[in-house]
Amino acid sequence: MPELPEVETIARGVNLRVRGDRIVEVWFGGKREPFKTPAARQAKGLEGRSILEVHRTGKHIVCELGAAADRPLDQRGGSPLVECASEPSAQWIVHLGMTGRLLVTTPDAPVAPHTHARVSLMSGRELRFVDPRRFGRLEFRELSRNTGFLAPGADPLSVTAAEFARLFHGRRLAIKAALLNQKILSGVGNIYADESLFRAGIRPRRLAGRLSRAELEGLRLALGEVLRDAIRLGGSSVSDYVDAEGARGFFQLEHCVYQRTGLPCLRCQTPIRRLVLAGRGTHYCPQCQR
Ligand SMILES: [Zn+2]
Repeated sequence: MPELPEVETIARGVNLRVRGDRIVEVWFGGKREPFKTPAARQAKGLEGRSILEVHRTGKHIVCELGAAADRPLDQRGGSPLVECASEPSAQWIVHLGMTGRLLVTTPDAPVAPHTHARVSLMSGRELRFVDPRRFGRLEFRELSRNTGFLAPGADPLSVTAAEFARLFHGRRLAIKAALLNQKILSGVGNIYADESLFRAGIRPRRLAGRLSRAELEGLRLALGEVLRDAIRLGGSSVSDYVDAEGARGFFQLEHCVYQRTGLPCLRCQTPIRRLVLAGRGTHYCPQCQR
């Protein structure tokens, strides 16, 4: 399943390639599951709109869209570049689910099985959504009638020290479970929860509400570090993610504890332990984490 760093990397890669472009035509497949907004309404909403920006919110990819062109689109005439400074009037929200991919390609590229959406752009490029298991979702929001997409929890990359402390204050659950709770923080998965607790030297079973302000701040910094390291590594493989030619996996961060049960800790040589917390395999060093 794509984690926050993968989603961030894909959003950045897609943004570089389609920002300022305009949607000419949309084709949607016949499977119902990927369409949170009914396919026909979604296609009507998307066609003719400019793409102002593509970014990540939580674990979703959000395409900020401008108004639809007021005159008929002419693919031959003029530059596809639009004014990106204008206010968005709609959003196309892509959730990758377990196996979803958002690709930038050209119309002549072979269409992969399980392609549910093909969005033709004025530049001649094409955006495709491919998802074999169909847990991914596509949603269209008109901002005159709806609020913009908001993740349920705070963003782990931009949360402030004060907000982070407030989020965990008084929580009577294990810090590992709190990190995974999407209503508290958006987009932290199992790998990054284990790795950040290791970097911060905190045992996963400790109660969130019992951590000192200094420990929480150490954890906030460690979490940001782990996620940024993964994004930096992913950046080098971004074209494999969004250009349809390649589909190699995300370049993995070298794990210090995650799935290293019984192996020596990279810092102190103590064997890494595993326990199950909130239903998830949890890995930690009994020496380095207190
Ligand atoms: Zn250790």
